[in-house]
Amino acid sequence: MKIAIASGKGGTGKTTLSVNLASFLAEQQEVILADLDVEEPNSGLFIRADLIHEEDTFKMVPDWKEDQCTLCGECQKVCNFNAVIQLGKMIMVFPELCHACYACSELCPTDALPMIPKKMGKLKHLKNNHLHFIESRLDIGEEQAVPLIKKTQKYISEQLNGSYIQIYDSPPGTSCPVIAATKDVDYVILVTEPTPFGLHDLKLA
Ligand code: SF4
Ligand code: SF4
Repeated sequence: MKIAIASGKGGTGKTTLSVNLASFLAEQQEVILADLDVEEPNSGLFIRADLIHEEDTFKMVPDWKEDQCTLCGECQKVCNFNAVIQLGKMIMVFPELCHACYACSELCPTDALPMIPKKMGKLKHLKNNHLHFIESRLDIGEEQAVPLIKKTQKYISEQLNGSYIQIYDSPPGTSCPVIAATKDVDYVILVTEPTPFGLHDLKLA
């Protein structure tokens, strides 16, 4: 079973609930607590566990090969995120804006934009008795949270494929990272605070 702890607004107590719920359940069964707030993970502040695995995480971005490029401009036209642009006789790639959709690379008629791995963050796996804690953290300057959230979910499904209860401490807000963190879960618990701002963002969520 997968349960996401989310909120429209930050600072409402998602992490407090996530950590306490996971710790309580782990007294009797195997539990995974995953901090998917990869821009600013902080569940780890409250978890005492041993590090059992650590790895760098990568996303794929296009790499321009000048000697193969005919400057046809197709790559710039197809990119919805302005991550690849043509400037005179140069093609410039902005990896921070790239969503790794492969469109420019696939459409390039001369294979001048092969996709290469670029480091985006780090994933840690810690364990304390029945509790597995997975934390992913974006590198400073990285803007794309969704690829790292997906990598973290993939790691969990590949490395921990038993019958665990999974608790996701989700990112705040209502944008793409929240969708990525909550779209495959069985339940979402929304946490709010007793303020007009809190109620407004709860309705958005
Ligand atoms: S699609 Fe390929 S050949 Fe055309 S401008 Fe882009 S990199 Fe160059
Ligand atoms: S892979 Fe997709 S998002 Fe990235 S630069 Fe190419 S078209 Fe743009």
